[in-house]
Amino acid sequence: MRANTFVSPGKTRVERVPDPKILNDQDAIVRITSTAICGSDLHLYNGFIPTVEPGDIFGHEFMGEVVEVGKGTRKVKKGDRVVVAFPIACGSCYQCGRQMYSCCENSNPNAWIAEKLMGHSPAGVFGYSHMMGGFAGGQAEYARVPFADVGTIKVPDGMTDEQVLFLSDIFPTGYMGAEMCDIKPGDVIAVWGCGPVGLFAMASAYLLGAERVIGIDRVEARLRVAREKVKAETINYEEHDVYRTLMEMTGGRGPDSVIDAVGMEAHGSTAMFLVDRVKQGLMLENDRPNVLRDAIMCCRSGGTVSVVGVYSGLIDKFPMGSVMNRSLRIMTGQCHVQRYMKPLLERIRKGEIDPTFLITHRANLDDAPAMYRTFRDKQDECIKVVLKP
Ligand SMILES: [Zn+2]
Ligand SMILES: [Zn+2]
Repeated sequence: MRANTFVSPGKTRVERVPDPKILNDQDAIVRITSTAICGSDLHLYNGFIPTVEPGDIFGHEFMGEVVEVGKGTRKVKKGDRVVVAFPIACGSCYQCGRQMYSCCENSNPNAWIAEKLMGHSPAGVFGYSHMMGGFAGGQAEYARVPFADVGTIKVPDGMTDEQVLFLSDIFPTGYMGAEMCDIKPGDVIAVWGCGPVGLFAMASAYLLGAERVIGIDRVEARLRVAREKVKAETINYEEHDVYRTLMEMTGGRGPDSVIDAVGMEAHGSTAMFLVDRVKQGLMLENDRPNVLRDAIMCCRSGGTVSVVGVYSGLIDKFPMGSVMNRSLRIMTGQCHVQRYMKPLLERIRKGEIDPTFLITHRANLDDAPAMYRTFRDKQDECIKVVLKP
């Protein structure tokens, strides 16, 4: 089959690789019909995530048709059209029992590497480094899906790929970001980052009853989508002082909750040079390391700081004094996608939200290397790329 594979930082290549095979009874093989490039794929692409090796297949947002199932599967059947959740979860461990699927204790065969960096290992993730399990990703013609009964949702007839594809990650991730804010009527929610996850966090904040939603970014095309498609108010941080503007907009108190949908380009290595490289790279890029700090400072006292942007290691100058003295609540986590797929599919089916609004680019899998560049450089007003194998 063809697959988009890592070559070196800033470079992927579509190569012929062996087709995936059933390895465990609970596996399914999915013939991929749609797959997307995620902002978090750029952390891999840019070389900031340790344990990514040449030849690794990227992609954790995908869907398609089940073409083969292991003999231990009960729910998933050959011929089903399914969306696949990005965290791989067994469905039966302590964490899965609490619906904390992205913390599954059984799905990362390389847990020992993650334990060294984080104390405990999170769940395995498709196409997201050897530290996260070394699973082949979904920017390919086929993928092996472990624990297929737990990690897939069947798509009802009549719904298009583009309507449901983002149930694999960014819609649930944005939704969880908003849900963690425990939104009350009248709440004002400020969201840093108007990329795909930020846009879904904003839309979800409205779905959950927020009165005002404010999106913060510097890319005008993205701010425009936030205004026009999500009906958010926006702040361009290159033109306006974010703190002062937010205080003016909220009578001096600050937003009730703040969402960091930016994250930081991976500080997660044991090697200090990697950390330095990251810092250097980010300083050239923009103020990204400041997002979490800014969000904390802007949040009203007693409010919630919700973090769905990806962090993988240590961060500097964390304003713990502001958090502690002002009774802030920090909520975070890789999305427990399996928890949200069914209720969010229902919301899409009922027309409460149309997730296709952020798709700007559609291309063939063969164009993946070029699309990575377009997406990384935010060329051509790129927000979200969908690839068709
Ligand atoms: Zn993603
Ligand atoms: Zn589990």
